[in-house]
Amino acid sequence: MALTIDIEKKVLSENDRLAEALRNRFVENDIVALNLVSSPGSGKTSLLERTLGALNEELRMGLIAGDVQTENDADRLRRAGGERVRALVTGGTCHLDARMITKVLPTMAVDDLDVLFIENVGNLVCPSSYDLGEAMKVVLISTTEGDDKPLKYPGMFRRSSVMVINKIDLLGTSDFDMDRVKANALRINGDLRIFEVSCRTGEGLDTWYAWLKGLVAEKTPLAISEES
Ligand code: MG
Repeated sequence: MALTIDIEKKVLSENDRLAEALRNRFVENDIVALNLVSSPGSGKTSLLERTLGALNEELRMGLIAGDVQTENDADRLRRAGGERVRALVTGGTCHLDARMITKVLPTMAVDDLDVLFIENVGNLVCPSSYDLGEAMKVVLISTTEGDDKPLKYPGMFRRSSVMVINKIDLLGTSDFDMDRVKANALRINGDLRIFEVSCRTGEGLDTWYAWLKGLVAEKTPLAISEES
């Protein structure tokens, strides 16, 4: 048991070293790097498709789509107008790590980007432990999930700076309670910035776009995700 813990610690410290180098590069080049995390099916790719549709002319965006298998999401992002898109197929690993990002970056020009979106593998547990050098983690939750997710997966919500609640067009079709999910999330992390959107209808996305443009305008906020 102790051996397992020691190995895990070693892996994480190696990851932190690589993540720090990534973070320095992002900060030096004024790239806002966002690590998108959620359960499978919450709408990470849909949010990115919408964001490309709305802001592709204004912002230089790079996108890394992580999945256990298939390049389906990367293909979707290219179809949505993404010019600098890379798929990271982990082949079984349940999260992205800093080594994977370090390996993929040389294959895409990143230093002139405004924003680098890293879509993590859909999973609310493992990705919370791996720093990718991002400025912040953005956690998505959808109204088709349980509104107690923040309580079940507190690590992810504690380490995220932003929570996007997607599929608000489906509110009322299940027992999901908007006030309760927000209260649960804020109980875990009182600093969470919350957006309520529907990537299907577009409702609420204007505030997300405005926030994103604000981030780029004020340049990279320094690492928040490592405070906890
Ligand atoms: Mg996806």
